[in-house]
Amino acid sequence: MEQKHPRSLTEELLHAYYEHGSDAAISKLASEGNLRERFLYMLRHDTLTGLYNKTAFCHEAEQVLRQNPTMRFELMVVNINRFKALNDIFNEHIGNELLQQIASLFNALTLRPCAYGRLHADNFVILYPEETGSTRRRLMTSLDVTVASFSLEYRVDLSFGIYPVADRDLTVHTMCDRAFMALSKAKKKNTSSYAVYDEAMRQRIVEEQMLLSNLPKGIEDENFVIYLQPKFDFVTEKIVGAEALVRWRHPRLGFISPAKFIPAFERTGAILRLDKYVWEKVCQLLRKELDAGISAKPVSVNVSRVDLYNQNLVQHFKDLVHKYGLPPQLLELEITESAYVDRPQDIVRMTKELQAAGFPILMDDFGSGFSSLNMLKDLPVDVLKMDLKFLADTTPEAAERARNILISVVRMAKGLQTPVIVEGVETKEQAQFLRDIGCEYAQGYYYAKPVAVPAYEQMLQDNGAEHQPELRRFNCAKCDQDCAHCTMLAAPPELLQPQAR
Ligand code: C2E
Ligand code: MG
Ligand code: MG
Repeated sequence: MEQKHPRSLTEELLHAYYEHGSDAAISKLASEGNLRERFLYMLRHDTLTGLYNKTAFCHEAEQVLRQNPTMRFELMVVNINRFKALNDIFNEHIGNELLQQIASLFNALTLRPCAYGRLHADNFVILYPEETGSTRRRLMTSLDVTVASFSLEYRVDLSFGIYPVADRDLTVHTMCDRAFMALSKAKKKNTSSYAVYDEAMRQRIVEEQMLLSNLPKGIEDENFVIYLQPKFDFVTEKIVGAEALVRWRHPRLGFISPAKFIPAFERTGAILRLDKYVWEKVCQLLRKELDAGISAKPVSVNVSRVDLYNQNLVQHFKDLVHKYGLPPQLLELEITESAYVDRPQDIVRMTKELQAAGFPILMDDFGSGFSSLNMLKDLPVDVLKMDLKFLADTTPEAAERARNILISVVRMAKGLQTPVIVEGVETKEQAQFLRDIGCEYAQGYYYAKPVAVPAYEQMLQDNGAEHQPELRRFNCAKCDQDCAHCTMLAAPPELLQPQAR
């Protein structure tokens, strides 16, 4: 394989051009003895590493496959994790050195027949014969060892996406695309890891693409419908508000669950558009309730972590409530705990501004994002929202542990004087238990499923709309003190009797 790294003709010509003008570049070009060869080399190779570029790699890989019709092959793409951070922390030269080091390893391989190259940025590719999985393992280990020894101060590791060449009628371009699909799965883990392409992966991506391309029309045609899931006070069992959950009534595919389209929209940023639509619809709804003289209950909306990158978010919410003449207290904002963990300073600043503007902040999925207790005391959060799903499908011992965790969290929340709402409450026993340990609010199928707006309004009427949501405190039956005091002293659940103040 002709993969040495002579001086780049492009670099020389550019140098001549910038230093001495276009005439100098043209005469330099004319003076090149082996111009044709150097020009061809430049067309086929990556300047930095001297490896094949994408076009040349695809051509070379096609040859290898054609010349070895009975041999089994795999195509692997290799990507450096957090490469951008490495470039930022050190400098581009260091990043370049790492790329060259990886290229050297490829050049030193004795695998035959094979083809390899650098596709773009920090993405390399290699096609190699594979029968038993051992070549793949050896390759990954060699590459891991190479990058691990690169720097002592910065942990460099790689992700691998593998396409086992099953269909030789595909172009090598398409094979690379499939290896990249596998790579994006491997990338979801934080450390060195690999994933192997399968058909379901492609199917998922095709579906995602389809959903994404249908979004603008879906919004235009009002196919996204707001459902509301009521939230209840554990003690009075009155509705205290609701969470807005979007549903997609697709004209061809029928009813699509948010669990299917929200993650795809979050990955591509399309969620920004959908969330703004949902928030606006919720404001319209609240306005309508106020106009109808119904005592409107607060409705919470989900704020995706992607929304939090929008520097105008706070202003957007202020403008929205202003537009509909709403008290901001009626629009509650659910922010997932893991968003705080991702970018604590930015999110804390933003949520403080939102809170100062009057919007209540709920920390959604509390307990799933590993925020530290230390961090929690400084967070601008009005309500902690926990999901009971971590109680599901567990052994009796694990369920017991989960219950103990819940008890501790509720105690801690009381120490922080922050009410807790538990979602996913499905059974009477769960409701009883949660009420007994001092949780304030509930949301779940046991009380009510998410329903369309007219059904929610009916429920509000039936359930007694005069009830005002207030933050309840619970007194301990033993000492009749505020539980914020008692529960911190590890009072057993049976001593905790919820009582309205
Ligand atoms: P989430 O915000 O944590 O919402 C709660 C989910 O739990 C809802 O699912 C709700 O229907 C479901 N749920 C409520 N009670 C129970 C129960 O007792 N048992 C079980 N098994 N599930 C229960 P849904 O509506 O399918 O929404 C799923 C997720 O999609 C939501 O989780 C939220 O993260 C996201 N989502 C929904 N609507 C929106 C939206 O408008 N914007 C954004 N950014 N995300 C949304
Ligand atoms: Mg939520
Ligand atoms: Mg939740």
